[in-house]
Amino acid sequence: MTTCVSDAPPPCRSYSGVSFTFVSDHLALDFAATVAWRTTQHKELLAEPEDFAQWAAEARVVDCLEAVSQADLSQAHMLREAIYRLSLAASEGEPADPRDIARIRQAAARPPVRPVLQALGQVERRGGVQEVLATLAATASELLGGPDRLLIRHCAGEPCTRLFIDRSRAGTRRWCSKRSCGSRINAAAYRRRTREDEQA
Ligand SMILES: [Zn+2]
Repeated sequence: MTTCVSDAPPPCRSYSGVSFTFVSDHLALDFAATVAWRTTQHKELLAEPEDFAQWAAEARVVDCLEAVSQADLSQAHMLREAIYRLSLAASEGEPADPRDIARIRQAAARPPVRPVLQALGQVERRGGVQEVLATLAATASELLGGPDRLLIRHCAGEPCTRLFIDRSRAGTRRWCSKRSCGSRINAAAYRRRTREDEQA
């Protein structure tokens, strides 16, 4: 269980031991990426309530999230999957499921986390699970309801299934992260080329 000392900067964190990355260039897509390798090993990164608390703090949605229940976690999973399906549909030009639209609308109807400026360089974000889910649903609404939905891409670094925003000027970003997926694919291509050269 996380213990929050909410008025002590820097924000407290829960430590579930899971490592999260934020490389999608959008909060909603980073949230969707908390299931890794969806089509192969399907790795759930938010397996425990503490994982969600840690993710929300690391994502800077809220300073600290206390007392997350299993029911809260299930709600977070449902919202996340709706965001993922709709983002994937947007990236592939497929129609959206109206039930997913309704799920996001419902979550976004609640009050979000309200940032309160404390000083230059210091903002306080307090809220509970419902406020965090409302914030995530609101940011997903902005993404999926606006022009940036057309910039959603699927990482080319299989088996990575991460979605990201392609903000490159030429619109040619292929990987969620050059450092992980990009370098892995380039290394594989290099090994393949070297092998072919040796055989030639
Ligand atoms: Zn990737």
